[in-house]
Amino acid sequence: MRPFTYTTAKDLPSATKLLTGNLNAKFLAGGTNLLDLMKEDVERPNELIDITRLGLSEIKPITAGANTGGASIGGLGKNTDAANHPLIRQNYPLLTQAILAGASGQIRNMATNGGNLLQRTRCPYFYDVSMPCNKREPGTGCGALEGINRMHAIFGWSDKCVAVYPSDMAVALAALDAVVKVRNASGQERVILFADFHRLPGDTPEKDTNLNHGELITAVELPRNNFADKSYYLKVRDRASYAFALVSVAAALETSGTKIVQARIAMGGVAHKPWRALKAEQMLIGKEATEANFKLAADAEMADAKPLAHNKFKVELGNRSIVRALQMAMNGGKA
Ligand SMILES: Cc1cc2nc3c(=O)[nH]c(=O)nc-3n(C[C@H](O)[C@H](O)[C@H](O)COP(=O)(O)OP(=O)(O)OC[C@H]3O[C@@H](n4cnc5c(N)ncnc54)[C@H](O)[C@@H]3O)c2cc1C
Ligand code: SF4
Repeated sequence: MRPFTYTTAKDLPSATKLLTGNLNAKFLAGGTNLLDLMKEDVERPNELIDITRLGLSEIKPITAGANTGGASIGGLGKNTDAANHPLIRQNYPLLTQAILAGASGQIRNMATNGGNLLQRTRCPYFYDVSMPCNKREPGTGCGALEGINRMHAIFGWSDKCVAVYPSDMAVALAALDAVVKVRNASGQERVILFADFHRLPGDTPEKDTNLNHGELITAVELPRNNFADKSYYLKVRDRASYAFALVSVAAALETSGTKIVQARIAMGGVAHKPWRALKAEQMLIGKEATEANFKLAADAEMADAKPLAHNKFKVELGNRSIVRALQMAMNGGKA
């Protein structure tokens, strides 16, 4: 690891000011991703600004504004607390399931909600500093494009980067139409729709998100919805636990009788950001909640997939995972 200075921020204004003043500085939250990347020499900040003492961990109902009736989750709260909070368990069980499908109990106890959204890809070429990687070092090429790309993207990739984004929590947040609240050093607050928070790689894969340097995630807001009874997070992975998703699906349905009123489907492990399956969602609205209709919707979504040399299996896996997650959602999460 390279030398760096370490400062504990006392409050939100000083934290954002410190970061803004140094382009090579990084916020340190739980450290479960950042420190790993520093040990591997992938991230090389010269200053760490510890933000763990700023509070901003509260989970509370939203009582005013556009998301009244929804829930606000503090950006610096721990993943464990978000997953287990009664408000989240009761109204957003999809989010609870997704968080609990990630990492391990110990890591979730350290990992924060803001840090989770900003964790970086697990592409092995990104972690190996002897390999070319446009995300780590723009302009050097992409080791995975012609390399072993079994874990990589089937949607939205570019010839600059084919990596997938690893967070489980974020897939549920995408399906739930969350918004991310951020604040900068001038005290200005900005609200970013979840769909606009993470980026596709295009020509600038080094930029994972649309967050500006110096902005701090203060909270994630969830709008009210009617999905609590019919939602499910399905994660398919190489090992039963402690592994990132090959494919995951966050599915949520609102029904009237057996007819689908609203459908939300987001996928993980298939793109550079949580992938909203908008085509599939659209096809389900107004239809009967049957396996045949779930299959038609999955077929329509996966028809647009562009697999790489080693990950064609993700197309069939994604298709079946969408159908299975929708079935599980209809059964209230029971097999
Ligand atoms: C072995 C292992 C297995 C894992 N498995 C999974 C898994 O299956 N699924 C999954 O989803 N995740 C998994 N994770 C990832 C884990 O969930 C993340 O590392 C964690 O959520 C990151 O949170 P953190 O608070 O530790 O972030 P940090 O490591 O502290 O920070 C990550 C990045 O976010 C920035 N940052 C942090 N907080 C803020 C903020 N509030 N505002 C602005 N910037 C901020 C930091 O500067 C840094 O760049 C795994 C991690 C490990 C080590
Ligand atoms: S897929 Fe992206 S992260 Fe992986 S080597 Fe290529 S550029 Fe780097």
